[in-house]
Amino acid sequence: MTSPQTFWPVSHRDDDFWVCMSCLGEVYYRKVPMPDCPSCHGVSTYEGFTLEAVRDWGTEDLIAKAIAAKQASVADQSSVESAAPVEAAD
Ligand SMILES: [Zn+2]
Repeated sequence: MTSPQTFWPVSHRDDDFWVCMSCLGEVYYRKVPMPDCPSCHGVSTYEGFTLEAVRDWGTEDLIAKAIAAKQASVADQSSVESAAPVEAAD
């Protein structure tokens, strides 16, 4: 079955990076996949961490994923805010 991945929005104050504690291979920013982890299919395996914590014990791959997840989230938000036309530089 190939249904599109859905997410449950989660936002805490500092621990905005949600890591699967079962496979340690998935990380999301301010959201967790539903109904289970797309990699290991564990349910309720996600725990929130700060980016500093992920940097502390995460693999290079996990850290890169965390940073990319945050950038994607920020890009999503700014694309809505910066909907106004951009003036040409010249
Ligand atoms: Zn997992």
